Amino acid sequence: MLASINGMKICNRCGVEKPIIEFNKNKGGEDGLYCWCKACTHKNSVKYYSENKEHVVNNPRPKGRGFWSCIVGLIFSSVRSDSPHTSSTHRARLARSSL
Ligand SMILES: [Zn+2]
Repeated sequence: MLASINGMKICNRCGVEKPIIEFNKNKGGEDGLYCWCKACTHKNSVKYYSENKEHVVNNPRPKGRGFWSCIVGLIFSSVRSDSPHTSSTHRARLARSSL
């Protein structure tokens, strides 16, 4: 979905039009933003990770772009940023990339 018109973008998950500051940045995305808003991303990543912990840990992030890689990418970035094992350097990079 091409979006971010007039600083607004429609979330693919909840369907609500929100300001682009409500979306995390995604360098691989067609408009540079994730397709889900931050609220949906957070809600879903917590749910997905708790339900698919082994799968998430054992399967590296798939290559390729598109809707699914967008979802997987945002789940991974969310999981990693919450991980106590994430190095401070990596955490800082994640923080910058999600500004
Ligand atoms: Zn949403």
